[in-house]
Amino acid sequence: MASGAELIRSVKEQITEIDPKDVHEGLSLNGSGPVLVDVREQHEFEEAHLPGAVHVPRGHLESRIEGAAPDRSREVVLYCASGNRSALAAHTLKTLLGYENVESMTGGITLWKDRGYEVEVPRALTPEQRTRYSRHILVPEIGLEGQLKLLDAKVLLLGAGGLGSPVALYLAAAGVGTLGIVDDDEVDLSNLQRQVAHTTDRIGTPKVDSAEQSIHDINPGVEVRKYATRLDSSNIMEIIEGYDVIVDGVDNFPTRYLLNDASVRLKIPVVSASILGFDGQLSVFAPYDGPCYRCLYPTPPPAELAPSCGANGVLGALPGVMGVLQAIEVVKLVTGAGEPLIGRLLLYEALSTQFTDLKLRRDPDCPICSRDPGEISDEEMGVFPDYEAFCAAAG
Ligand SMILES: [Zn+2]
Repeated sequence: MASGAELIRSVKEQITEIDPKDVHEGLSLNGSGPVLVDVREQHEFEEAHLPGAVHVPRGHLESRIEGAAPDRSREVVLYCASGNRSALAAHTLKTLLGYENVESMTGGITLWKDRGYEVEVPRALTPEQRTRYSRHILVPEIGLEGQLKLLDAKVLLLGAGGLGSPVALYLAAAGVGTLGIVDDDEVDLSNLQRQVAHTTDRIGTPKVDSAEQSIHDINPGVEVRKYATRLDSSNIMEIIEGYDVIVDGVDNFPTRYLLNDASVRLKIPVVSASILGFDGQLSVFAPYDGPCYRCLYPTPPPAELAPSCGANGVLGALPGVMGVLQAIEVVKLVTGAGEPLIGRLLLYEALSTQFTDLKLRRDPDCPICSRDPGEISDEEMGVFPDYEAFCAAAG
């Protein structure tokens, strides 16, 4: 049986090694150079790494290398701390995974630094943040990088009601850096059956203030921007501009159409949910990536079917489920993890406990998203029948 040292010697004879000087020269090729892969552990990568390196820890090499380097004929340079782990990894890529042009950097990042070449030191979390978000950082799809994206993210919540409440609480807990809230309503006793961001002692206070209080109770690091107003065509562009994602929890059709048209113009994805009784719906409208709201519903439904005309009943926990699903879609959009619900409509029927997933297609003749954003005028946004008349027709 070979000793560990003998094994590494023998592996190094079977692979190609590359000197840090040659790697350094390759880096200046800007894009046409090799794929640089750091195979060390998470904490080592976070301390410092080579500029432009991607991180694939050796323990996940086989399962994740294809994501980092899909082209097996392209030059791949692996490195670690001193050149041993990367030699073993290079051997695996060459002999087991068919990578044709793989090299291990001699002496690892230690020799690289000794030669005086630059390293990238990633932005760090404070010790408090590191503890607060430790369970996120342990999830490979989020990690430190994803958490930093969440901290940089600006998310706008339309409505601090049944859907907006769980979204606000979970996104605050998740560390979304900026949460905007649009709501012109005050906390009412009849809200408390489902709007869990508000409390009995805050009845009569503006919902934006009450939601801000709950957000800061959970996470004082979140910046809250309050808009105690109603969205209309005169203010929508100004309010939504600059946000990365919009969470739609509004319960009326005119606002939904207006929001759709404005978000398509500004190319901001909207995570949209609606609820009625025991039923919920969810989709992500990502302008030009998937269908928009008008691709699905080019014209509003018959007035008698419009749930926003007057008071309707809803199971208190239902917006909890749908709002938490919205919060998860936001986290996916911000971090790039998984496949967001773009071009799909999720239906949740609570009474039968069924989730159904329908495919949605873009309408090539959509009145809004079939055109360039620049062609959509202010006058066209939110074009919708007169709302009072619309609801009156429902009787
Ligand atoms: Zn469309």
